[in-house]
Amino acid sequence: MAVRALYTGSFDPITNGHLDIITRASRMYDELVVGVIVNPAKNPMFTKEERVEMITEVTSFLPNVKVDCFQGLLADYVNRNHFQAVVRGLRSAGDFDYEIQMAHMNARLFDPGIESVFLMADPAYTFLSSSMVKEVVSLHGNAEGLVPESVLERMKERV
Ligand code: ADP
Repeated sequence: MAVRALYTGSFDPITNGHLDIITRASRMYDELVVGVIVNPAKNPMFTKEERVEMITEVTSFLPNVKVDCFQGLLADYVNRNHFQAVVRGLRSAGDFDYEIQMAHMNARLFDPGIESVFLMADPAYTFLSSSMVKEVVSLHGNAEGLVPESVLERMKERV
């Protein structure tokens, strides 16, 4: 049976740190779905359609990666779609503190056998977050190498 995993996030927009996690996780599973979380309470730079489009474009070299979006409880989406694992990236102790709480809560909510799996961020990207890149680009700073080039172009157009 094919082993399917989910990598979730806001991806507003996808960064090279996310792309590194996606590339590495795609080698671990038969299929990796990148799940864009739609949170109506947040005011994103990009719509869910734009985020899905950008991720689809920059992961096109990875044949076993698919992109989807969902709203509501993560565990409902995971259980409904029968994923075997949920991947998250860890940059720092701060990420760990938050993620360990989420993982324990999700362990109660996931169907039996579904695991939370953590990949350590590439040291080159531990400082990198979507919000930081948005700030740099909005202030016309140099964000080359932090997000894929096509994403950077879209960000510049947006600001
Ligand atoms: P969220 O709003 O759910 O934290 P993000 O899009 O910011 O969504 O992040 C999605 C996932 O990717 C999280 O597990 C986060 O820790 C991880 N992540 C974010 N930035 C990086 C990075 N630079 N390197 C590795 N993992 C990252």
